[in-house]
Amino acid sequence: MIEYPTFVTHLECSYTGKHYPADTPQGLSEAGKPLLVRYDLEALAAGVSKIHLIDREPELWRYREFLPVRRSENVVRLGESMTPLLAARKLEEDYGCARILIKDEGRLPTGSFKARGLALAVAMARELGVRRMAIPTNGNAGAALAAYCAAADIETWVFCPADTPRINVEETAFFGAHTFLANGYIHDCGKVVGAGREEMGWFDTSTLKEPYRIEGKKTMGLELAEQLDWQLPDVILYPTGGGTGLIGMWKAFAELEAIGWIGSHRPRMVAVQAAGCAPMVRAFETGSRHAALWENAHTIAAGIRVPAAVGDFLILDAVRESGGFAVAVEDADILAAQRECARREGILLCPEGAATLAALKRELASGRIRRDERVALFNCATGLKYPLPAEYGQIDLGQPIDYAALQEPAPIADLRP
Ligand SMILES: *Cc1c(COP(=O)(O)O)cnc(C)c1O
Repeated sequence: MIEYPTFVTHLECSYTGKHYPADTPQGLSEAGKPLLVRYDLEALAAGVSKIHLIDREPELWRYREFLPVRRSENVVRLGESMTPLLAARKLEEDYGCARILIKDEGRLPTGSFKARGLALAVAMARELGVRRMAIPTNGNAGAALAAYCAAADIETWVFCPADTPRINVEETAFFGAHTFLANGYIHDCGKVVGAGREEMGWFDTSTLKEPYRIEGKKTMGLELAEQLDWQLPDVILYPTGGGTGLIGMWKAFAELEAIGWIGSHRPRMVAVQAAGCAPMVRAFETGSRHAALWENAHTIAAGIRVPAAVGDFLILDAVRESGGFAVAVEDADILAAQRECARREGILLCPEGAATLAALKRELASGRIRRDERVALFNCATGLKYPLPAEYGQIDLGQPIDYAALQEPAPIADLRP
């Protein structure tokens, strides 16, 4: 049994600061708020240096000192590789921007960055003896949980809103998770998971209702910093649902500064939401620390269709402390940005990732983002998980091919027998 060096000291309520022990399964704090993992950062700083990273595999576990897993046997590996940070050169040229970077998280297991969080949650569940896990999801989190739990022999229950992208639902069920559609939103599914805890004996793996998914998402911040040689970008645009990634990166930057790996420069954190579901934007604009439930939420960007987030104040605090802001974009602009990035850069963004590009365009025009700023966008999943328009023609191999007509193919429906 190989021991991972771990510097965890305790869990801390993100709202009251109350301490909780780290060596038993924990949900929310008594105040009903997320628990954050705290480390002995002095010991961590003494235990690892940037030099150590050079020889390590280009994967999430290269940052193991910053993570809570104690025994390596509990880690399930499905290929959590570092994700590319792509320079969008033609978009830079088109918009006159100094630097547009796209962190392409679609390469992770199950095709989304949810793998980062769930890899940690499942490793910790094993470490703490959890045998059954349940989750409400708009798709990607359920698929990631199902995959890691299949490998870890943990029984899984997944509840999705009925309009969750179908491929995610099918993927989740195919991994062997007990999978259900429900006629409601993700927070309604969350209530089913919460209320079933005692009868079903499952561990509630909802966003921020357990302390470890955020530690996995934190590795996005560590990785981004390392890939940029420890010089953080000026602006990060993050498609914000429950906010785990934004909060996690903010935590990563604080820990990196505490151990002296980066200075005090912070990116401005921009929470990007869809106009049809923008609780953080409304709260940001009205100056409130908490976000009220967003009624009748709708957007094609399923991953950010989150009407209520338990970590609302953590998102809003990070955005405000960083000097950033929250912004909503229309679905039509999301689709236009997705197409633009595909055609100009050869990068197929998911709608949530495309929302960050739509937001960038909007804020370059408004002046809230300057053209000399170095900007990082997050593409959180592969665009292949979402339906694309049928923009292709059809040929009839039983007929001579009219090559001239290939320039302007008839709409596909017209060609069907
Ligand atoms: C979950 C998800 C998001 C939102 O991430 P949070 O960190 O929970 O805010 C964005 N995009 C995609 C594709 C997702 O699956």
